[in-house]
Amino acid sequence: MNLCFQGKRILVTGAGQGIGRELALRLSKYKGQVFALSKTKKNLDSLIAADPKIQPVCVDLQDWDATRKAVQSILPIDLLVNNAAVVCLSPFLNTTPKGFDLTFNVNVKGVMNISQIVARDMIERKSGGNIVNVSSLAGQVAVKDHAVYGTSKGALDMLTKTMALELGPHNIRVNAVNPTIVLTERGKLGWSDPQKAHEMISRTSLGRFAEVDEVVKPILYLLSDHSSMINGVCLPVDGGFLAT
Ligand code: NAP
Repeated sequence: MNLCFQGKRILVTGAGQGIGRELALRLSKYKGQVFALSKTKKNLDSLIAADPKIQPVCVDLQDWDATRKAVQSILPIDLLVNNAAVVCLSPFLNTTPKGFDLTFNVNVKGVMNISQIVARDMIERKSGGNIVNVSSLAGQVAVKDHAVYGTSKGALDMLTKTMALELGPHNIRVNAVNPTIVLTERGKLGWSDPQKAHEMISRTSLGRFAEVDEVVKPILYLLSDHSSMINGVCLPVDGGFLAT
């Protein structure tokens, strides 16, 4: 797949760590002008040290107004990846309003906020555009202790489809990827218990979790013109989990 994002201004949220960081570096390598949004300055500093062409945007997505101001200051944006998310895991009976509000504020309301600003500007400029939301397999299947996180990703999937429906007439495509467990540093820690991992892997026909690169590549594909007729899909990146 020949990829070049030259001339594109690209916003990646949650680019301080994990999938978002790797994606930001790859998009910059393919000549896009990348804006990396995240909460912790130290992580952004490390990203910029790795690639000084990337521009940092340090803001907490829980702050609606500060986020609007920060994103407005970097418009126009041609491609947006809503990747930032928080994970609050607990058994359903122990879920708390605090965990619920934090999760939904970042994983759903944060996406709505940034996407509104970016899409309004795309519409005013009549430029078209492209948005990819990083969802999760946990938005499509029930996973133990994932009641709040999974529900937020289920909501994100519906937000993706509704945005695709309403923004498509403006030539703005909106899609999601729904990965299984991804072996980021955090993913490795969270799923190191062999018994816990076995429950997921035994239902995955490829018999393993995903590498970061195996999620980055489908996102690059959805952001590129190679997927120009794909709109409103929630693409499982799950090694066959949903097929079983
Ligand atoms: P990660 O390593 O935990 O990184 C998350 C990023 O989001 C960090 O850069 C973090 O900022 C940022 N972030 C979190 N809350 C924020 C806030 N309030 N404001 C601004 N930035 C915020 O996550 P990941 O594992 O790479 O996951 C990336 C995406 O993939 C998420 O949407 C996740 O739900 C999805 N996903 C992950 C897996 C997995 O197994 N890893 C599986 C399925 C789906 P800081 O740098 O400040 O921490």
